[in-house]
Amino acid sequence: MEIWLATFNLNKAKEIEYLLSEAFSSISLSTSNKISGYSPPPETGASFKENALIKARSLSSVKKQVWVIAEDSGLEVTGLGNLPGIHSARYAGPNASDSENNAKLLKMLQIRKVSDRSARFVCHLVAISPIDQIFHFEGVLEGSIAPLPKGIMGFGYDPLFIPKGQTQTLAELGPSFKNQFSHRSQAIKQWINHLKEQV
Ligand code: IMP
Repeated sequence: MEIWLATFNLNKAKEIEYLLSEAFSSISLSTSNKISGYSPPPETGASFKENALIKARSLSSVKKQVWVIAEDSGLEVTGLGNLPGIHSARYAGPNASDSENNAKLLKMLQIRKVSDRSARFVCHLVAISPIDQIFHFEGVLEGSIAPLPKGIMGFGYDPLFIPKGQTQTLAELGPSFKNQFSHRSQAIKQWINHLKEQV
């Protein structure tokens, strides 16, 4: 089965590829960053769902009669009115690094004297089938924001996010925890179940 993933984020691609390879023996996952001349569309949506749809539709306009998937994800912090949300990748500026985004998040919590550090990761996945049917899936991982970054695994806000019921950050818990419980793995597994029901 040929699948195209709309992403330029290789960390996300790695997580998704692992989950798909666990579920299916013969699968080929390619990413949009490999298509010469293809530029990702501006993410002008007002929600994870709208942005995921924009990315999926854009890629399916150049990759036809195959499965096209796209996800939009981010971190919602309750005490910051659910920011950074859809702005997660660029919270500290257009070309911000993960550590700059993490530093800004801690700074905002401090400046606003936020006491409620509860947060959640959200992933909205759009899958467009080879015959142009559109499917939506969503995963949420609840947790809280740590006082300081800890751990070296993963990407993005992983060093600051402690999943509910855990004492370590995602960057300390590592890929085996994320593959089982993350927002992204929940959404991808829903799509995998959908695919398995079809065969
Ligand atoms: P997107 O590529 O526009 O969907 O932006 C996703 C951004 O949300 C990433 O660049 C990270 O900052 C954050 N994010 C999403 N998923 C994760 C995750 O699994 N771990 C850590 N950060 C994440």
